[in-house]
Amino acid sequence: MKASQFLFATLKETPSDADIVSSQLMVRAGLIRKIASGLYIWLPMGLRVLQKVERIVREEMQNVGAQEVLMPMTQPAELWQTTGRFDDYGPELLRFKDRHDRDFVLGPTHEEVITNLAQGELRSYKQLPITFFQIQGKFRDEIRPRFGVMRAREFTMKDAYSFHVDQVSLAKTYHDMYEAYTRIFTRLGLDFRAVQADTGSIGGFASHEFHVLADSGEDDIAFSDSSDYAANVELAESISFNMAERQPPKQEREDVLTEGMTTCKMVAEHLDIPLANTVKTLIVHGHKEDGTPQLIAVVLRGDHQLNTIKAEKIEEANVPLTLASDEELKAAGLHKGYIGVDLDMPVFVDRSAATLSDFVTGANKVNKHTIGMNWARDASITRIVDVRNVQEGDPSPDGKGTLKIKRGIEVGHIFQLGDKYSQAMNATVSGEDGKPVTMMMGCYGIGVSRIIAAAIEQNNDENGIMWPQTPTVEDSIAPFEVAIIPMKSKEETVMQTATALYEELKAQGVNVLLDDRNERPGVKFADLELIGIPHRIVVSDRNLAEGKFEYVNRRESEKQMLSREEVIAKVC
Ligand code: ATP
Ligand code: MG
Ligand code: MG
Ligand code: MG
Repeated sequence: MKASQFLFATLKETPSDADIVSSQLMVRAGLIRKIASGLYIWLPMGLRVLQKVERIVREEMQNVGAQEVLMPMTQPAELWQTTGRFDDYGPELLRFKDRHDRDFVLGPTHEEVITNLAQGELRSYKQLPITFFQIQGKFRDEIRPRFGVMRAREFTMKDAYSFHVDQVSLAKTYHDMYEAYTRIFTRLGLDFRAVQADTGSIGGFASHEFHVLADSGEDDIAFSDSSDYAANVELAESISFNMAERQPPKQEREDVLTEGMTTCKMVAEHLDIPLANTVKTLIVHGHKEDGTPQLIAVVLRGDHQLNTIKAEKIEEANVPLTLASDEELKAAGLHKGYIGVDLDMPVFVDRSAATLSDFVTGANKVNKHTIGMNWARDASITRIVDVRNVQEGDPSPDGKGTLKIKRGIEVGHIFQLGDKYSQAMNATVSGEDGKPVTMMMGCYGIGVSRIIAAAIEQNNDENGIMWPQTPTVEDSIAPFEVAIIPMKSKEETVMQTATALYEELKAQGVNVLLDDRNERPGVKFADLELIGIPHRIVVSDRNLAEGKFEYVNRRESEKQMLSREEVIAKVC
């Protein structure tokens, strides 16, 4: 690319409304322009970066056998009404009407559309498992759009959805996706951690987030300093925020927490399991006759080890705290109880249970008239975690080391959804025995545009952007890998030599920019540093006389005088 024919939209001044270093640099380097709160144009320079990220994400999705689709951003409201999310989703969902007065939404995510597709297209268990993905614009009417493309209202997401005949198959694809995400963020050269999105999320149902570590991150991540343990510390404030309009008075909420904690302690004591002082959730499930799991109750601040304990174990323990009897469960419309973990489902808190049996059946009473249920249901809370006591230096939850807390930027999130959507939308296939089976689902998101801001948060200096150092040069996300700068000269040989080098590198597949703009060298150097071009080659008649080129790496301050062969070897 010749710079004279390319939109260089660099700015000297930092825009007053760009709030963190990445958003400032992205605007100054001419990658993006804001047109309204949370809405950005990707300029040619920025789009090159976005497309490079997309390429890596797409490759890794294809590697795990996901098939690419493209769904409309505009979605009919009926689909969202079927799952109940038209009312539940809250003000982030942009709802609007067409000229015929029909309701639509702008997609913040695509579970409804893809489940509708699966419901229509998939017939037999033989077609499963199957995974679809897309790379596409999402709209979320964020209450506080900020940090540039990091928290935008319209942004690019890779979202994938998998369909399965059973939980075992879902767990396998989930594992493959976890590995694919690890490869993506490794290839991108990011310093990241995969964390449990909810510490209870082990066993049959799970959720992990991928965080790029940076002080500007909006999430707190709790790590163990001596094991692999890592979890998102969800803030108590974010819970009350989610609860939006109908949250109970503060006093009542405290009661719910205290009550939950007491019940947890009770369970833990009876089973002789230590109650860790960290983010914990104990959730009680039942399942229906056909085996589909159903959440019954949740207790706050339990010990995550409890999650793996099955009903038998509790019965074995032979304590007053027993499971609800089959009759009791049946009366509540449920069968067999077990303790496990699920996410993204309504949660119930029974505040009056003295025994687990009461607790389980009580959850249904709660359902009708107590604040506990209202609290949970109106908020459609997906996770409740009381974290107010988690702090640096606490013992770790897995018994190894102490906790450290760091800030993270959520760049990816994978989820085992279970049958929440497939059940609501009647997405079944015929099973091996010919009977209909409700499909199990997983969903997997990556904030493609957010990744770029996160990469810059981790890689910058006072002169501008430094793109991440990727394991291979092919995966570099710099808009251009090499810039060649012909120094103004009366001699035509400078321009000729620079152009010949440019053509040669181009022919070798190098992403090279010839900075032939009519600007002073100082301006060009400043621009190229701001944009973060990894390699800079200066061609001048003085150096040419000695057969040399001046080479500077963006991450090093020293200039090197290299021969033509040496300079080519440096950048290829
Ligand atoms: P956050 O906690 O930051 O609001 P989320 O949990 O709501 O994100 P998901 O529903 O998990 O987001 O969506 C998948 C991915 O999309 C996120 O991991 C994140 O990288 C990205 N993402 C979410 N919201 C935005 C946004 N407003 N702007 C840019 N990227 C976003
Ligand atoms: Mg969000
Ligand atoms: Mg999140
Ligand atoms: Mg998320």
